[in-house]
Amino acid sequence: MSRIHILSNRLPFSIEKENDEIVLKPSVGGLATGMKSIYKKYSGKWIGWSGQETDNCSQEEQTIAESMLNAENCIPVCLTNEEINLYYEGFSNKTIWPLFHYFTQFVEYNNQTWEAYKKVNQKFADTALKYLNPGDAIWIHDYQLLLVPEMIKSKMSDVTIGFFLHIPFPSFEVFRIIPWRLELLHGMLGADLIGFHTYDYERHFFSCIRRLIGYDISLNNIHTKDRVIVVDAFPMGIDYEKFKQSSLKLEMAKEEDKSDFQLELDKFAKFLPDRKLILSIDRLDYTKGIPHRLRAFNTFLEKYPEFRQKVTLVMLAVPSRGQVDHYQLLKKEVDELVGSINGQYGDINFTPIWYFYRSMPFYNLVELYRECDIALITPVRDGMNLVAKEYIASRVKGDGVIILSEMAGVAKEMGEAIIINPNNEEEIADAIFSAITMPLKEQQLRMKQMQDRLQRYDVFKWANEFVKTLDKVVHIQQDFNVKRINVNIYKSISDSYLNSAKRAIFLDYDGTLTSFKNNPDDAFPDENLLSIINRLVSDTKNNVTIISGRDRLTLGKWFDSCRVNLIAEHGVWIKRIDEEWIMPFVVNDKWMPNIKSILENFVDRTPGTFIEVKNFSLVWHYRKAEPEQGDKRAYELKDELTNLVGNLNLEIMEGNKVIEVKNGGVNKGSASLQFLGSDKYDFIMALGDDWTDEYMFRDLPDEAVTIHVGSKRTNAKYKLDTVEMVRSFLSSLSLGNINT
Ligand code: UDP
Repeated sequence: MSRIHILSNRLPFSIEKENDEIVLKPSVGGLATGMKSIYKKYSGKWIGWSGQETDNCSQEEQTIAESMLNAENCIPVCLTNEEINLYYEGFSNKTIWPLFHYFTQFVEYNNQTWEAYKKVNQKFADTALKYLNPGDAIWIHDYQLLLVPEMIKSKMSDVTIGFFLHIPFPSFEVFRIIPWRLELLHGMLGADLIGFHTYDYERHFFSCIRRLIGYDISLNNIHTKDRVIVVDAFPMGIDYEKFKQSSLKLEMAKEEDKSDFQLELDKFAKFLPDRKLILSIDRLDYTKGIPHRLRAFNTFLEKYPEFRQKVTLVMLAVPSRGQVDHYQLLKKEVDELVGSINGQYGDINFTPIWYFYRSMPFYNLVELYRECDIALITPVRDGMNLVAKEYIASRVKGDGVIILSEMAGVAKEMGEAIIINPNNEEEIADAIFSAITMPLKEQQLRMKQMQDRLQRYDVFKWANEFVKTLDKVVHIQQDFNVKRINVNIYKSISDSYLNSAKRAIFLDYDGTLTSFKNNPDDAFPDENLLSIINRLVSDTKNNVTIISGRDRLTLGKWFDSCRVNLIAEHGVWIKRIDEEWIMPFVVNDKWMPNIKSILENFVDRTPGTFIEVKNFSLVWHYRKAEPEQGDKRAYELKDELTNLVGNLNLEIMEGNKVIEVKNGGVNKGSASLQFLGSDKYDFIMALGDDWTDEYMFRDLPDEAVTIHVGSKRTNAKYKLDTVEMVRSFLSSLSLGNINT
């Protein structure tokens, strides 16, 4: 991979003024550390907002800041106060943030902030485009920039784009609420690799893509009209060594080197040696479940009075988004709850809650992590939660217990934590009790497992894994593109076509010559298609065969006017031009009633599905079913049928939203070979779009020109993207066009 650039809302430096001088202050967060390692290693730029509002500083100050940032390979995106208000504080934090965290009651639908979001996303994209070269990669971060991937891809398709969402991706039922849902999805789909913290978020994203856009998804690949997009889960890690080493350093610190905060903590520990400290650290955000946690702590003190003088909750709430109403109300609620609990259970010697409403420098955080026996992390919704990981990395003595909300992404990686539902105050109170009374040995055992895992998968590993996958995606896409018929490939096919004397051409019907319709009967051949086929067959060198899973009556009726051969029901029936239908293989239909009753059961349980009865096969169609339920039932059905078909010498064929059960050994591969017989052809070509056509691609002689329609993996030599392309390809060939 050549250069990799980073694009995020904020640059890893902020611009500050000290004694009237502009200075750069580096960000210390884990993401900044992880990303710095990437853009420096791959000689890229980091593009983002510097925190400077252009209307609040002079042109000269901007120029100085810009050149200081440039020296760090950072490119500032200049934003005005109004843009920040509307795009960041508005649409990002008042619409996307609450929606993606399931706080639908807080979501604001405001056209003005949406327009600003689009405009500012375009500004980020335009700034990036100035620095991108073909072949570069760019890694875009987070919910403030959902539209940027497409804005870049549409201008520079040869740039590889990664996108990582640091917050949850909500379920379809929640995501669908937002009026701009399609724009947001299409924005993200400009990326080549999309990363989430957990598989659940990935699953929700797939569900939205399937239901709102309808793209096919196989494994973790989305097949758009012209690209494959890879989606995967990459749980973000922390700079583990930084926390571990700082904690070890504190362990060794002499009295005179300790911070005032640490000295206070030491004094407290000496005064109350059997005291237990419970830690709670978050931004003051409604997603963090702070009031729930306080109420649960209250329940704990009520339910377990023996701990009233022995347990203190150390609560650090970092001020956040204070201009937004919901945050102001939250602050008021938290203040009141803390006051009420301290008032009820505190006395002169003891305060149940130490409440800090501010942020703390890194070394104080590590002191807290080291000092607190229990971490109580109970967000009602959280993309990941890094505090949980930092607590674990700082526990160098190997003790400590973590109580974790099942709604935090991090819970997926921490089976050893005490997992709770953040809305269940009783459960949290009991979890605090279990944590306080957990034997040291058990604490150490659990802690060790979590530490080993987090140490291995730290923020550097996380960033490298993403980049490695981005590189792999390039190869997956190249693989798909190599086979795509371009001008040169067309020319070589056309040359061998024109230079041949006897040609066999096999054409699948649905999905190849014509598009799928909800009702299969509506997919009859249109005038344009019939004229293309008639032109092909008018060349006496051509022997054209329509090879389909359709029944013989339908095919016979539809192609009555064309001089084509027909192969129906995937090879059960063959009809050569001017001859009658024959059955080249021995097949029977005795199995059909049994299998039909199984299929009927699936139809009853899956609205929108139906059975097609052919002479020697049964087909369960689920195109009209609710997509996820259809896919799920298809798996179930295959599973149920697999146990039966072996004994009955049957085969299950999975087509495009259909499952077909038919006699074994009869397929488009055996049928096309049967058709060719011993005749000599010097040009053989087959086109098809689904799994059933793969038999043909596999069985036809090596020199055959085999073409898959669509973008899936295939045994065919070449690919065409769409039915329209198939039609123009066949037209050009039949007209003898050299170039198309
Ligand atoms: N943090 C900090 N100063 C503080 C409190 C917290 O720098 O006073 C950091 C903490 O170390 C962690 C981050 O803020 O890295 C919070 O990340 P998390 O994923 O837990 O929550 P977010 O705020 O991103 O939702």
